[in-house]
Amino acid sequence: MEHDLHLRDRVGLQDFVLLEDYHDVNAFIENLRKRFNEDIIYTYIGPVLVSVNPYRELPIYSQEYIETYRGEAFYELPPHIYAVSDMAYRSMLAERRDQCVLISGESGAGKTEATKKMLYYLAEASHHAAEVDRVKDRLLQSNPVLEAFGNAKTTRNDNSSRFGKYMDIQFNFKGVPVGGHILNYLLEKSRVVHQANGERNFHIFYQLLAGADERLLQRLHLVSDPDQYFYLKQGGSSQARRINDEQDLKVVRRGLEVVDFSQQEQDELFAIVASVIHMGNITFEEEDHITRVEDGEHANVVAQLLGCPLDVLKQALTHKAIEARGEKMHTPLSPDQSVYARDALAKAVYERLFTWLVNKVNFSLAFEEQHGQTVMGLLDIYGFEIFDVNGFEQFCINYCNEKLQQLFIELTLKSEQDEYLREGIEWEPVEYFNNKIICDLIEEKHRGIIAILDEECLLPGETTDATFLSKMEDTVVHPHFRDHKAARKEISREEFQLKHYAGDVTYSVTGFLDKNNDLLFRSLKEAMIETTNSITSTIFTAAEMESKKRPETAGTQFKTSLSQLMVILMSKEPSYIRCIKPNDAKRSGIFTEKIVRHQVKYLGLVENLRVRRAGFAYKRNYDFFVHRYKSLCPATWPSFNGPAKTGVQLICEHLGYNPSSYKLGRTKIFVRSPRTLFETEDALQQ
Ligand code: ATP
Ligand code: MG
Repeated sequence: MEHDLHLRDRVGLQDFVLLEDYHDVNAFIENLRKRFNEDIIYTYIGPVLVSVNPYRELPIYSQEYIETYRGEAFYELPPHIYAVSDMAYRSMLAERRDQCVLISGESGAGKTEATKKMLYYLAEASHHAAEVDRVKDRLLQSNPVLEAFGNAKTTRNDNSSRFGKYMDIQFNFKGVPVGGHILNYLLEKSRVVHQANGERNFHIFYQLLAGADERLLQRLHLVSDPDQYFYLKQGGSSQARRINDEQDLKVVRRGLEVVDFSQQEQDELFAIVASVIHMGNITFEEEDHITRVEDGEHANVVAQLLGCPLDVLKQALTHKAIEARGEKMHTPLSPDQSVYARDALAKAVYERLFTWLVNKVNFSLAFEEQHGQTVMGLLDIYGFEIFDVNGFEQFCINYCNEKLQQLFIELTLKSEQDEYLREGIEWEPVEYFNNKIICDLIEEKHRGIIAILDEECLLPGETTDATFLSKMEDTVVHPHFRDHKAARKEISREEFQLKHYAGDVTYSVTGFLDKNNDLLFRSLKEAMIETTNSITSTIFTAAEMESKKRPETAGTQFKTSLSQLMVILMSKEPSYIRCIKPNDAKRSGIFTEKIVRHQVKYLGLVENLRVRRAGFAYKRNYDFFVHRYKSLCPATWPSFNGPAKTGVQLICEHLGYNPSSYKLGRTKIFVRSPRTLFETEDALQQ
């Protein structure tokens, strides 16, 4: 590695804190561009790693690179995801402190790839025995399984994660990975029954059709052409050029074996996937005001695959069971309502299947807690989304990003402040935007948007998306909220707008109540409980039927799981990876300034830099500084045996540093301007 790499790469600055004008977005972007053009995708903002998706395989992740970064001082080598991994890993062991890595960025920016590279590094982090290889295998192989069921091709990303994932990797006291645990968040289940133009359903459906042999297809009553199935063809792009479904199914199957799925479980799993495919083809007709299943074939197959009586299924799809005065009655549904019931069933089955899968994986990764064990958590969660039409899902996703941004601001500010305090250096307050105010708008008890939505959902009688909206219009007075009256022309009567930290988003209220309620007709649940497929009969339980309590709404559930996540993250020492997408074409070599600028803005990178630069551009341990620059001062060259702090003092005085341009803390030197440092570096070269 080259000598001066710790400050400047071949191109550009390897750390944004060295930018002369750190308020200047243009300079920030220019530095990113310069580096991107040279295939250098990583840059630091202090300890934060900024990564730009190269959209092609770069030869920088090999075993050799792992060895290079292992145990090296963070700033000695060019920025790399392995450097961040290594630093987190080593501070975990040295300080015996749990770590977490927060990976953010918009869809397609490279979060999932970053998570995988990190996981790979950590799995390779220690030389180990066969028993450990088994854990390593499971950690790595669980990925393709969860991606098959939780990822899909979207217009933004061919492999877009449609769920949030937080994964803990457990290490024993020697730093060897011994187990893991995954938490999953809000799967985008509406995709099961509907896909936007150019998008697909979850990968597993297409993988199954492309990869199953004749026998399996026959057993599942499927044909290999996805366009025969309503649920798989709505995006009009069931074939994806860059995806090899057939090959991917092989990988998924290997993964299922590694995480201990028995043959029977695999059979039942695929039977459920197939049953969801068939559900989409069940249609309804009306005769004499009675709704019937139109063509029994697909309903028949569903009943057979899941193991439930056909008439029970048909009845549940076309009637609604209600209890009146202790008596159970069945009222008929209209054909539209039956389609609604069918879709609700497909979504519920798939969503619960996904959660069951995660639990299975967790079971195979489970490791008894031991003394001296530490944990590294990796968070790969959907980034901020602004679509042409934004619904309940975007509302939840963007709320989640507000929470993470708040955590980020609090923790980075706090850690800077703490460091100054520790080092005995005066802290100069920084101006920054605290987005807590937006989080409150969404989540506050009684007054927040989720509370208002819940209230509307729980009110008896005719509440609709419109009544929800008008209640908000009547009660919410907030600088970050606008309704159509406040923003005439810009937004319509069915919409409201939130001023997120990342930009204004207009939400359409259509579907808010329904999605928040998230109810499945009782008779459909009953039908599922009775199935002989052991997975469906487990994921639908009699206990939930008996419970008199109304299940929590989707919004409140999400809010609760997010606040639990925040507690988990707060208890750990965080590292950050901020991913950026260079263009909208999913292509390599293109750096579209407008797109990058937008992300730099809403990821708050320049603001982050400002906080980081609050006062000082550069701080390094005394030992490091003396070691690096001792040749520049006769008093420290060739060797200096006194305290490192004295050595630093001698060097600075000899180089004629202006006393106001640097400060000496307890263990570190703080240098105000990058220029001082560059001059020092240049002196080294002479
Ligand atoms: P989403 O929010 O939709 O899940 P994401 O941020 O997880 O998006 P990824 O799936 O990680 O995005 O990346 C999208 C694609 O970009 C990958 O499938 C891969 O082709 C490419 N890519 C991302 N990071 C890298 C990288 N470091 N090297 C090579 N290709 C990459
Ligand atoms: Mg992803």
